[in-house]
Order: sequence, then structure tokens, then C-alpha cells
Amino acid sequence: MKKIEHIGIAVRSLEVSNQLFTKLFNKEPYKMEVVESEGVSTSFFMTGENKIELLEATNPDSPIAKFIEKKGEGIHHIAFDVDDIVAEMKRLEGEGFVLLNKEPKPGADNKLVCFLHPKGTNGVLIELCQEVR
Ligand code: ZN
Repeated sequence: MKKIEHIGIAVRSLEVSNQLFTKLFNKEPYKMEVVESEGVSTSFFMTGENKIELLEATNPDSPIAKFIEKKGEGIHHIAFDVDDIVAEMKRLEGEGFVLLNKEPKPGADNKLVCFLHPKGTNGVLIELCQEVR
């Protein structure tokens, strides 16, 4: 894993939180994207070298809706940049981590992604992401 690619924050309302984070960073989101397969609407902010992803549920069955129901709004996941997601998934599975998807899947912001079950990572949802070139 190369570095933290972004931190994902679950929010109830992207509209409200976009305004809040625009004030916080003094900068507008550079991108907004709906990932229907994941049941999320997202927006991305850059602050210096760091990227923050806001996620709002698009339906009540969305993992984000369930997360907010259980834990409230807040940090949802930490994403790490990898060169070869398939190799990294294989390596982590070999180390006993539980992958939430067996194949890399398309994520927001032009990435292939895979999530690790938070039960195996001290309660932190980890996302692997590889830039699609
Ligand atoms: Zn993410």
C-alpha cells in the first residue's frame, strides 16, 4: 500500500455537508458522482495533497444508510492507494483478512476498489483502491 488515498465520511445530506466542508476548506468539491451500484452519492474535496470523500445514501438499503443508523454521521472508511489491487487482495486474503468483495469493483473517482471487513481491522473499514488508467 502506497499511501492514504482518501478518507470517507458518511453524511446524512450531501447538500448540507458540501456547504459545510466548502466553508471548512475554503474550496468547493472538485467532483460529485453517484455510484448507483453502491447506493451512494459522493463528493470529493482536495485539501493540499489530501482527499476527503463525502458519502450520502441514495436508498435506505445503502451501506451508508445502515452505517448512519448504527453509528451516526462520521468517518466511514480509510482508503489506501495500491498499484495492483488484485495482487494486494490475494496477499491480504492470504494473511487472513476478510474481503467484502472477491473481485475488484468500480468505485467513485475512476477507481477499482475492494473493502476489507472491519471486524478484522480493529473496527476500521479499509478500502483498497487502484487508479483506473
Ligand atoms: Zn472511498
